[in-house]
Amino acid sequence: NGAEPLLRVRDLNGWYGESHVLHGVSLDLNEGETITLVGRNGAGKTTTLRAIMNLLPRREGEIRIAGTDMMKVPVHRTAHHGIGYVPEERGIFASLSVSENLMLPPRVAEGGMSVEEIFELFPNLAERRNSPGTKLSGGEQQMLAIARILRTGVKIILLDEPTEGLAPVIIQRIGDVLIELKKKGMTLLLVEQNFRFARKVADRFYLMEDGHILESFPTAELDAKIDRLHEVVGV
Ligand code: ATP
Repeated sequence: NGAEPLLRVRDLNGWYGESHVLHGVSLDLNEGETITLVGRNGAGKTTTLRAIMNLLPRREGEIRIAGTDMMKVPVHRTAHHGIGYVPEERGIFASLSVSENLMLPPRVAEGGMSVEEIFELFPNLAERRNSPGTKLSGGEQQMLAIARILRTGVKIILLDEPTEGLAPVIIQRIGDVLIELKKKGMTLLLVEQNFRFARKVADRFYLMEDGHILESFPTAELDAKIDRLHEVVGV
């Protein structure tokens, strides 16, 4: 029936200074869906996430969440519209404990998880609740960065390479967490180079090159597309 996607991006252009990096990116993210953006380094994946969050110095185009125009919404208000961002560098507070990091983000919507619910979802964070951010492993930091967003109650989460640099067993756990979040109805936009990981959580893929979306296809077609993906993505 042509229902409006939860997140709709149309003809999005983005710049860093004079450098025109995004060239008309369009994508749809339906409620409860997970999409994965793939492309080689420098293709513009991170910039796409930053543009959606209004973290670029200049952007043009259309971004709507549940029909609401997001182009004038400053980054510190985006959570109030139901969207959160876990950057690649994770951005947790090194000097604060796990619990303190979890207390920081404001609850902006109904359905934000309590600290206890979060510790249920991430038992290893519960064990480390008094450890400072500096003492956490890369995997624990990634989980804390995701956990912190879950406190806010946002329905859409943008995740930039959550598995990067992590051991296979930790990647597996992060995959389990994302599948659990999907079951709770969360809507996810993932940037990911690890196809084996991405195929377990993603419903669809978007292939990106030089600031353009080349194509989009459902995960069921991943095997048929895999040679092209390796060629474009270079991994
Ligand atoms: P990566 O996996 O390397 O992050 P990516 O697909 O996420 O790749 P982007 O980080 O979005 O790519 O980069 C897209 C283009 O924008 C690249 O050419 C990059 O050099 C450029 N770029 C990224 N950040 C900046 C910045 N802060 N200032 C200027 N140019 C930038």
